Amino acid sequence: MIDIHAHLCFDDFDSMRENLVKECERTMDAVIVTSARYDEGLCTLRICDKHPKLFPTIGYHPVEGGDGPEKVMELIGKERDKIVGIGEVGLDHHWVKDEKERSRQKAVFSDFIKLAEELEKPLIIHSWDAEEECFRMVEHLKIPVIFHCYSGSRELAEEILKKGFFISFSTGILFSKIHRKLAKIVPLEQMLLETDAPFLSPYKYFQQKGGEMPIKDGFDPKKNYPWNISFSAEKIAEIRKVSTEEVLGKTTENAKRIFGIRPGTDI
Ligand SMILES: [Zn+2]
Repeated sequence: MIDIHAHLCFDDFDSMRENLVKECERTMDAVIVTSARYDEGLCTLRICDKHPKLFPTIGYHPVEGGDGPEKVMELIGKERDKIVGIGEVGLDHHWVKDEKERSRQKAVFSDFIKLAEELEKPLIIHSWDAEEECFRMVEHLKIPVIFHCYSGSRELAEEILKKGFFISFSTGILFSKIHRKLAKIVPLEQMLLETDAPFLSPYKYFQQKGGEMPIKDGFDPKKNYPWNISFSAEKIAEIRKVSTEEVLGKTTENAKRIFGIRPGTDI
């Protein structure tokens, strides 16, 4: 199984990163380690360099990106042979309502789109409450396009799928009705799994169900970890009436193909 979007460099993991990575290497086929800002990008490159099952993507979050995006673009150019994708990048209209700031986001996103095209790298999109706007900006692309944590309408999802793009389901599917409905219409061939770790722990879901979440020793259940995509796979299997193995098998295959991964080796 492959988690295609985990922020392993977030502070939340500072005290336990070594154990976390060890556990990922033991349980996962691969993890795509994502980044949202320059310093996170540097850390992502560093840990992926040392661990053969971790693969970096570098991006600039529309809200959390911090210092200018130019530095991030430079880093992408410099490390182009190491990174397996560009992201997360995109638009966020959930947190940003100001029109001027929204147009700044758009200009920045447009630069990253051009860069992804030029380098022929998959593009991983953050599109909170701006799914339609993001789609219109990328619909012409021939590179793999992934809508991470997609939460838009069913109609737009259908358009995204028609273009041959990908929709990535987070562990949020365990406690979100919208995502469970979407899982019915996204074919396994265009589906990916992610955690967005350290966010979106399935802990809440197990609490609601009144059951205990299976927890690994030394790992705080309130944080999310790449191996938790197995719970999403179970839920999706139940929704689509297929086996969990089939969901994991197909999504792993998709991730390997999109990101050019041969787990256990370097790219
Ligand atoms: Zn993220």
